[in-house]
Amino acid sequence: MFKRILVANRGECAIRIIRSCRELGIGTVAIYSEADAHALHVKKADRAVMIGPDPVKSYLNIHRIVNIALEAGCDAVHPGYGFLSENADFAREVGKAGLTYIGPSPDAIEDMGSKIKARAAMIAAGVPVIPGSEFALANVQEAKTMANDMGYPVMLKAAAGGGGRGIRRCDDDEQLRENYEITQREAMAAFGSDELFMEKCIVEPHHIEFQILADTHGNCVHLFERDCSIQRRNQKLIEIAPSQFLTPELREEMGAIAVKAAKAVGYANAGTVEFLVDKDHNFWFMEMNTRLQVEHPITETITGVDLVAEQIRVAAGLPLPFAQKDLSFNGFAIEFRINAEDPKNNFLPTPGTLTRYFSPGGPGVRVDGCVYPGYTIPPHYDSMCAKLTIWGATWPAAVSRALRALNEYDIRGVRTTLPYYRQIAASEDFARGEFHTGFIDEHPELLDYKPYEAREDIAAAVAVAIAAHAGL
Ligand code: ADP
Ligand code: ADP
Ligand code: MG
Repeated sequence: MFKRILVANRGECAIRIIRSCRELGIGTVAIYSEADAHALHVKKADRAVMIGPDPVKSYLNIHRIVNIALEAGCDAVHPGYGFLSENADFAREVGKAGLTYIGPSPDAIEDMGSKIKARAAMIAAGVPVIPGSEFALANVQEAKTMANDMGYPVMLKAAAGGGGRGIRRCDDDEQLRENYEITQREAMAAFGSDELFMEKCIVEPHHIEFQILADTHGNCVHLFERDCSIQRRNQKLIEIAPSQFLTPELREEMGAIAVKAAKAVGYANAGTVEFLVDKDHNFWFMEMNTRLQVEHPITETITGVDLVAEQIRVAAGLPLPFAQKDLSFNGFAIEFRINAEDPKNNFLPTPGTLTRYFSPGGPGVRVDGCVYPGYTIPPHYDSMCAKLTIWGATWPAAVSRALRALNEYDIRGVRTTLPYYRQIAASEDFARGEFHTGFIDEHPELLDYKPYEAREDIAAAVAVAIAAHAGL
């Protein structure tokens, strides 16, 4: 087993990895940028090394990160999610330095990294793939011809896309013409590549993804599905496991296909195969994420498997401790991404200083966070500052517990998605467990809540009234 792992990430992701390392008796080295000098992951690791002044580029500095790992006596590197987690060059450099990369092979990362390549590999493996282009689009004319052949609506997508960026729905020629360049520009700015492809737009789909785990001895299992249909701007906000939308038969069929997809690219370590499922239960492969996923805690909650620990064991060459038949799930889990952003203002990020932070607890409540009272959320990074994961034996129990925990949660100083989630958790459609990816757009009424400042005003007014009444 490894002695010391360098965690090439920040925030709640780095803390999550450090926690499993500690339980396994493995030492940890954190890295940080100047902007993160007061970040919690710096305090939680055994040792932390400052990389440099640039808030973002520091976490992408492959050469420096590998050197820090070597100097600090690490034998492995965990990339987490975001940053270098899907960068084949990083995985390669880590390997070249004689360190173990805790993730799949550089080839597997590369095969799945381009969505165009991934689609081709999956078609070759006999996996159903969303109808669309086989190659990168050459120009807007070609895109138009393809869209008319396929029939609108279509999706324009960046081949290198991630985090919901570089995706645009087009309903007619006019929109396609408008969106083509915008999507290209966005893709270039975010991913350094303006390669686009086209997919048929699946109407009112469910985003259903399967967690898979594979070792280097040829064993590969799936750990059931997550329903990530509640999204804003094509990025997940709330995820649930298992999906209420799947029948046991469909679960088994899709799980087997997810395993087949992973095996087709010789995959080892943890990964996620994402599908879209339409209302008639037709399903298609969308993409594979060759890393740990943000929403992995809901899978851990219903299966009892520590996915980070399994990633580490598999990377150390150990065989998976279970076969498919040994795996089962219990109850329901819901994850809420607590983001420092304002749902009422088109989910605009709201970095700033937390004047109060009180996280919930009690039965069935897990919090993966990276903030504390007085902490200033830097503006340079992802707006997610904590994840609240709820377990309940039944769906209604999970929803009721979610509402209880969301009401216990108290964050002041910056606007967050918390009050919006209280609305969602209390809504009828959520309680029924019925949602597709259009949920947020179809429920503008859920944005009708009082932000925390108002709640604070009311509390202050009540206190004044009580004091006056008591003659204080
Ligand atoms: P997941 O796919 O794990 O559910 P997201 O799609 O929200 O999660 O992305 C995971 C994290 O990685 C987020 O912090 C997101 O901002 C970041 N991310 C994802 N893809 C990319 C990418 N291609 N480039 C930069 N950051 C990315
Ligand atoms: P990312 O790499 O950013 O995660 P994905 O390809 O996984 O991008 O798509 C993210 C989300 O965008 C999906 O969960 C879905 O809501 C929407 N989406 C993507 N492709 C399609 C499609 N062909 N039809 C309908 N919705 C889509
Ligand atoms: Mg995706």
